[in-house]
Amino acid sequence: MHPEDLKMIWICEECDSHFIFHADVSDHKAQTGHTRVTKVDMILTDSPFTSNYRSDR
Ligand SMILES: [Zn+2]
Repeated sequence: MHPEDLKMIWICEECDSHFIFHADVSDHKAQTGHTRVTKVDMILTDSPFTSNYRSDR
């Protein structure tokens, strides 16, 4: 695994699930039919998706 991979996550805009690995995104799409999954850079703190992700923790 490359360190850069850890900076990126995917977030499903339809159910707010987040994923570390793209394989998980593929599984989620296949299992739920959700299509609006956005790749998010964890370093960008001005992203609403990233701030939502952090506030969950
Ligand atoms: Zn979803």
